[in-house]
Amino acid sequence: MDSSTRDEQYRRALDEAARSALNWLRSAPGRRVPAPAGPAEVAAHLEGGVPAAGSSPEAVLRRLAAVVEPGLMASGSGTFFGWVMGGTLPAALGADWLVSAWDQNSGMRDATPGTVVVEETAARWLLELLGLPDTAAVGFATGATMANFTCLAAARDTVLGGAGWSIGVALADAPRVRVLVGRERHSSIDLVLRYLGLGAPEEVAVDSQGRLDVQDLRLRLGGGGGPTILCLQAGNIHSGAFDPFVEAIEVAHGVGAWVHVDGAFGLWAAASSRSGELTSGLSDADSWATDAHKTLNTPYDGGIAIVAEREAVRAAMGSHASYLLTSSAVDQHELVPELSRRARGVPVWAAIASLGASGVRELVDGLMASAQDIARRIVDVPGARVVNDVVYTQVSVAFETDERTRQVLRRILAEGAIMPSGSEWHGAAVIRFSVSSWLTDDDAVARTIAAVRRAAV
Ligand SMILES: *Cc1c(COP(=O)(O)O)cnc(C)c1O
Repeated sequence: MDSSTRDEQYRRALDEAARSALNWLRSAPGRRVPAPAGPAEVAAHLEGGVPAAGSSPEAVLRRLAAVVEPGLMASGSGTFFGWVMGGTLPAALGADWLVSAWDQNSGMRDATPGTVVVEETAARWLLELLGLPDTAAVGFATGATMANFTCLAAARDTVLGGAGWSIGVALADAPRVRVLVGRERHSSIDLVLRYLGLGAPEEVAVDSQGRLDVQDLRLRLGGGGGPTILCLQAGNIHSGAFDPFVEAIEVAHGVGAWVHVDGAFGLWAAASSRSGELTSGLSDADSWATDAHKTLNTPYDGGIAIVAEREAVRAAMGSHASYLLTSSAVDQHELVPELSRRARGVPVWAAIASLGASGVRELVDGLMASAQDIARRIVDVPGARVVNDVVYTQVSVAFETDERTRQVLRRILAEGAIMPSGSEWHGAAVIRFSVSSWLTDDDAVARTIAAVRRAAV
């Protein structure tokens, strides 16, 4: 292909993508927040098999945007509170586009030092912002699920190593690994334990906010001994609560257990000035998983696996085929499950570079302040109760009965001005507001309260 044709094709494709992207982003604040179209309506525009003839890049992109947009949630609107998701910072979005344009397989640092060194910088900044040991290994994976997987693979192999088992010998022949989790851990922990062949975990009691009960942990670990992993949580999805790290880690380390923290959205409290005691002791754990696509507001997808002992994760995730370039330092592919990999750390770098340390702190502080505001003002809506202690970014709300709670949620979603999500907590229906977007400001909070008020009439 001659170079002017090639350049022209890229130009038209990227111009069309930029035009559609800007239209989408600009229109998001005024849109219905839940997706206006259902799957069947989207699918109706995509019937038929492979087209016999191709189309120009710009025609493909124009059609794509037209077909897809009705089936999207306006998650960039400031009144989107569904699940725990987050919006997209401009610098992170732009960096993500560049990662695609550069199209580097960013596994090996000597092959693609450009993207890899940016990721290494992002890693250093993350450890600084989150107050974690500066010698820890940081791997950029697809999400907190795979970050939990990475950390718990390192945990499994290390505690089994302590019992004389070595990687490469069948797990079936290994001693049993005891994995303790709080009763309200995130479901991804169970999923990951299945991937790792560790089976169902042992549940430790929790208090009214879902925090691990240290007394119960102490009783369970009283016998000590044996390969053991404890999974703690920074940020319960219903209450936002944090486990008591100081005491729990002391008890677990007392019997030689590995302590992992699932902090998918809560680890960022460590960067806040409002979190007080929530994160005390957090840095004494052995590994931590978090997301960039939630609290940090990078585009999907980006998870972060942090392991205090670098060699533990490298032993679990590294592969050393002879055709790979092996650098003097640790390669990115040795820190995550993927061998070929997108440079997911680059949007993380861009997000932090655009915010600065003060901006990251203000982002997290702002999410916490908006959650407090929603909780304070929503109780003025007749019948509404906040059922959790609002310590971080999560507000769970119930009305007089489950039926009434579900009715109010249905009306909120039908109107579409805001989007919380429905859930069940401690056997009762709740409407859950996860404040996760950099766009949620005072005005968005006011519009949120007004929408709940209209739905609760
Ligand atoms: C979202 C979440 C996860 C899973 O993260 P993904 O990015 O969806 O893989 C794990 N733990 C907690 C507490 C979460 O909120």
